[in-house]
Amino acid sequence: MSKLIDEIRFTQELINKPSVTPKDLGAMKVVTKHLKKLGFKCKLMSFQEKGTEKIINLYARYGTQSPNLCFAGHTDVVPAGDLASWSTNPFKAKIKSGYLFGRGVSDMKGAIGCFISAVSQFLNEDKKFYGSISFLITGDEEGIAVNGTKKVVEYLKKKKENIDFCLVGEPSNRSKLGQMIKHGRRGSITTYLTIKGKQGHIAYPHEALNPATPIIKILDELKSKPLDKGNKNFQPSNLEITRIHIDNTADNVIPAKASATFNIRYNNLHTFNSLKKRISKTIKKFEKKFKCKTEVKFIGTGTSFLTKPNRMVKKIQEIIKKETKQKTKLSTTGGTSDARFIKDIAPCIEFGLVGNTMHQVDERSSIKDMKKLKSIYLKIIKCFFN
Ligand SMILES: [Zn+2]
Repeated sequence: MSKLIDEIRFTQELINKPSVTPKDLGAMKVVTKHLKKLGFKCKLMSFQEKGTEKIINLYARYGTQSPNLCFAGHTDVVPAGDLASWSTNPFKAKIKSGYLFGRGVSDMKGAIGCFISAVSQFLNEDKKFYGSISFLITGDEEGIAVNGTKKVVEYLKKKKENIDFCLVGEPSNRSKLGQMIKHGRRGSITTYLTIKGKQGHIAYPHEALNPATPIIKILDELKSKPLDKGNKNFQPSNLEITRIHIDNTADNVIPAKASATFNIRYNNLHTFNSLKKRISKTIKKFEKKFKCKTEVKFIGTGTSFLTKPNRMVKKIQEIIKKETKQKTKLSTTGGTSDARFIKDIAPCIEFGLVGNTMHQVDERSSIKDMKKLKSIYLKIIKCFFN
């Protein structure tokens, strides 16, 4: 008989390791220690790039057979912020009026606790199930995310590791447990645009070239032309201008340079390359019209994806509905997550705790919710191997 893991006690132990990205400070050890006791084979992977700190990641597997059900998550957390505003010590987990307080409890140490607890109970009841359970845990989700899941996925691809379904434990519910399963995400592309004109006297504009005019025209055209109308699974793609900069110390001088930054969150009607093409076309048009010079840089931080609501997804939806009595919706809203990397090797969905205090002061999760999430995870595991 294997040891049962209590979801609350495990999460407390994990919260007490102040693993603010990129620091681990013993968090991954907590996870591996418990997984090893359950009989998991743990492979720790450290990745580092020039100028970045070393990140510890974990891939752990129980069993060798297919199908392989994977749980993905992260042990790193965002900084505590203003310590004086917290009613508890953010790195000393505390239970208060039915809630577990601590940095990272909802995003997403609590979900790791619930899944590991569910696995311990499952193995306790049924050690001879046909298949494998695995954990993909990273320490680099809240940061730049280059030395985390992205590289683990590359490693798993190379090793031809098969994952049949992946459950990501991100806090997918806004205010009530059971509201939302994320079965896709929008992509994100940021454009850095610089326009070079010619400096001159404001009273002699024909002898200068003001870059302010074309940059306004370009931004106006990009912002005012809708990218699409959205579809059944996605809201319309959206562009937001985040920075406009023209450095000028005099009121009677036409500036030489103007720059702007804007981001598009896009649905599955676009790709990084199709948007790059679309944006470049608009810029080129005004470049020609105004005879200015432009410099453009594009950065993509994840493409859009959609996990088709197959039988497993529908079953999970039913389990959650039954357990929480909510009208559990399938959604693709919100920001990016590590599912953007995992989707390359396995169909994945996200379901975790309630996220309304994540990244905030006094981050907390209801004890009731945590117990319910553990029970949901256990039912998902049983359903998957049935
Ligand atoms: Zn998270």
